[in-house]
Amino acid sequence: MIYDFVIVGGGIIGMSVAMQLMDAYPGMKVALLEKEATAGQHQTGHNSGVIHAGVYYTPGSLKAKFCFEGNKATKAFCDENGIKYDICGKLLVATTPLEMERMKALWERTEANGLERTWLDSKELQEREPNITGFGGIFFPSSGIVSYVEVTQAMARRFQEKGGSIFYSTEVVGLVEHSQGMIIQTTKGQYESRYLVTCSGLMSDKLVKMLGITPDFVICPFRGEYYRLRSQHNQIVKHLIYPIPDPSVPFLGVHLTRMIDGSVTVGPNAVLAFKREGYTKTDISIDDIAEMITHSGIRKVIYKNLKTGLVEMKNSFCKGGYLKLVQKYCPKLTKEDLSPYPAGVRAQAVSNSGDLIEDFLFVNTSRSVHVCNAPSPAATSAIPIGAHILEKVKEMLES
Ligand SMILES: Cc1cc2nc3c(=O)[nH]c(=O)nc-3n(C[C@H](O)[C@H](O)[C@H](O)COP(=O)(O)OP(=O)(O)OC[C@H]3O[C@@H](n4cnc5c(N)ncnc54)[C@H](O)[C@@H]3O)c2cc1C
Repeated sequence: MIYDFVIVGGGIIGMSVAMQLMDAYPGMKVALLEKEATAGQHQTGHNSGVIHAGVYYTPGSLKAKFCFEGNKATKAFCDENGIKYDICGKLLVATTPLEMERMKALWERTEANGLERTWLDSKELQEREPNITGFGGIFFPSSGIVSYVEVTQAMARRFQEKGGSIFYSTEVVGLVEHSQGMIIQTTKGQYESRYLVTCSGLMSDKLVKMLGITPDFVICPFRGEYYRLRSQHNQIVKHLIYPIPDPSVPFLGVHLTRMIDGSVTVGPNAVLAFKREGYTKTDISIDDIAEMITHSGIRKVIYKNLKTGLVEMKNSFCKGGYLKLVQKYCPKLTKEDLSPYPAGVRAQAVSNSGDLIEDFLFVNTSRSVHVCNAPSPAATSAIPIGAHILEKVKEMLES
């Protein structure tokens, strides 16, 4: 069988593309290949579950556009598919004069990004959230929470109901592009298709390399470690509570997140991981480490962020240090309140010149599209990212 399209990756991005392809081109033969036994096992299944509003992103960037659209699209998809979500709103809290300055810059940015928001002084902040203290805050009413695994599973069902095929436990190990299409070698044999889309998260650069292309970026894995609060603190906050992030790194800082199952998590930090898909501190891959230390871009990132990186590493091993990050805005929490919770690993693209690539990044060939950088807020943005890829697909079909 020669497929019209093969999609690699059964995370939320791959499933969004698959679902929208079948919606747009009914009757086409489309297969999705996923190396794990079920959907959403990696980033999609290990995140904060926040439907972001689009606070931080550079106006005009793909992140700003797709997050804004994705916030609405995710809620609409959940409504259509009976998926539970909660629009609990988000509070950004400034705890130092420097953070107040940074918060003012974010206020301007969110105006440019068209977001509804309210400025709160310290008294208004305390009235809204009695357990949170700070110099002031900004409230964003459109942020919410959901299970992205449930969203992904619903996308998979719709794809299959419309005739798409999913092959789990099928890892792509080789790709060949020729004038008529693609040959896809997997651990379960060979597939052929006219076109290919890869949405392979932590492996995105490896899939591009399989085509013989030398990418100008590499994926650097950053583990995000969480704790869960003891259940007596499930009502400690009404909203999602976020610190003011350091603008020099693309991570949001340790936040208090109400989860859709009713629990509250603290996290995630951002620690350089020694293995892609390495979820614990002891997960190490010699190949991944060798790749990191020989890549000049990653070496530059480590050098530029050495101090921040070492502090993150220290707090990863020292619960007291981690706790201080959250006590800045929620002083009543103690070490005993923090219980273990599974970590996630972010796929962050680093350019060969040594920059953490902020925006979503796509690479094309004449018969393939590759999602190369889709870190947070890509779960929120999955539906617009899928629509963006469909536009690229249309161009390929018409050329
Ligand atoms: C700690 C953390 C917190 C986050 N919080 C949020 C949040 O609150 N809100 C938000 O919007 N975003 C958040 N994100 C980001 C979000 O989770 C990701 O951007 C999103 O899940 C990316 O989806 P994906 O489909 O690209 O990747 P993934 O979910 O990682 O899926 C990629 C898939 O490709 C498969 N694959 C890889 N290689 C192959 C191969 N060779 N053959 C076959 N299959 C292959 C993998 O097995 C995997 O299932 C967070 C991420 C992390 C790590």
